[in-house]
Amino acid sequence: MLAQIAQAGLLITSEPDNADVVVINTCGFIAPAKAESIEVIRHFVQRKRRGAVKKVIVAGCLGQRLGEKLFSEVEGIDAVIGLDKRDSIVRIIRTTLSSNRSASYVDRAAKAHSDTVPDDRVRLLITPGHWAYLRISEGCDHRCSFCTIPSIRGRFRSKPQELVLAEAKELASAGVVELNLIGQDTSYYGRDLKAGAGLSGLLRELEKIDGPAWIRLMYLYPSGISEELIETVAGGEKVVHYLDIPIQHINNRVLRAMRRSDTKEQIQRLIETLRRSIPDVTLRTTLIVGFPGESDREFAELVDFVSWAQFDALGCFEYCREAGTSAAQMPDQIPDQVKRQRLEELMLAQQEIAFARNKKRVGSELKCLVDSADINTGKGRFYGQAPEIDSICIIEKCSAKAGQLIKTKVVGTRDYDLLVEQV
Ligand code: SF4
Repeated sequence: MLAQIAQAGLLITSEPDNADVVVINTCGFIAPAKAESIEVIRHFVQRKRRGAVKKVIVAGCLGQRLGEKLFSEVEGIDAVIGLDKRDSIVRIIRTTLSSNRSASYVDRAAKAHSDTVPDDRVRLLITPGHWAYLRISEGCDHRCSFCTIPSIRGRFRSKPQELVLAEAKELASAGVVELNLIGQDTSYYGRDLKAGAGLSGLLRELEKIDGPAWIRLMYLYPSGISEELIETVAGGEKVVHYLDIPIQHINNRVLRAMRRSDTKEQIQRLIETLRRSIPDVTLRTTLIVGFPGESDREFAELVDFVSWAQFDALGCFEYCREAGTSAAQMPDQIPDQVKRQRLEELMLAQQEIAFARNKKRVGSELKCLVDSADINTGKGRFYGQAPEIDSICIIEKCSAKAGQLIKTKVVGTRDYDLLVEQV
């Protein structure tokens, strides 16, 4: 959207309070994300009432999920855009500016989703110039009982390999050294394409592109991780030894109720295989606590598993009862207070693990990608830290610039972060 807006000659400002049009790209797959989006929308609608902003347009997942309902949720929105209307953003901005009526550009029917993944070439990056997200697929064919994403983003479809490679080359020539591969389910990449060799084949081709030093895989569905993929990651030169594998839970009854296709035994075996095949692998996962019917014993099993698995990084959500999902209709919904307690307990267990794993790194040498540098001190990440969600390295005696890869030595820890020195 940004690139199209800029190409059309419209001026993009980083001071939204003085813009003619504010386009809010929303998230809306669970209640807290929706609340955050609504708060931002309300802020700009109020600015509009005071005359500081002329029009407010809502784009992204919340717009797709709620469509016209958003007009009654927050009065004063001028336009709502569906996900498949992304490439009409300039036309919609111009129409909105010249109209006094609010309009919805959302088709919420299941068949409304396009069969292809939009072409993301020609981008205007809002991440720091040296790293970028690279979307390789769209939608999801799983039907986890708690999840609204397939209804928002449609069925799984891969972006054709040549498009992914073209986009990666473009990013590389713009100076991007870290590509973070994303999609709702990256491990399924290529299964719907006639030609191409799935995710492993894509990684091998991406490795040939000059420029990027790190290629990172996010959001791998556990049962989609093949032996070939493990070998490709283990033997790759640029694919970093970091895997983000959301498992959601570990108790077999809960996994079944969640409609996940893995069992506890399969997940355990996968983690053992990964640790054996890629000894320096960093593993990240995501879990849900307080799923309907989750008993104290099932939750305790999850905590025990976290201790056993020794994840390097872990994100945990309280279960959200989302309209339109089958889990929302399940009996034995867990009270909010219990969910909160379970989340705290789990995160405390993980904190001990993360701190201990960090301490073991003291004295070792790590290659760091500098994200920002101030006088003498920088912030960066080693391969085991993904941007925006993981801990960071605080770089002392840093003489490098953002985007440079430097040698560092770990000299200490600060909570979840590592203290390193440039060497
Ligand atoms: S795999 Fe992920 S995106 Fe797909 S339905 Fe399950 S939780 Fe949602």
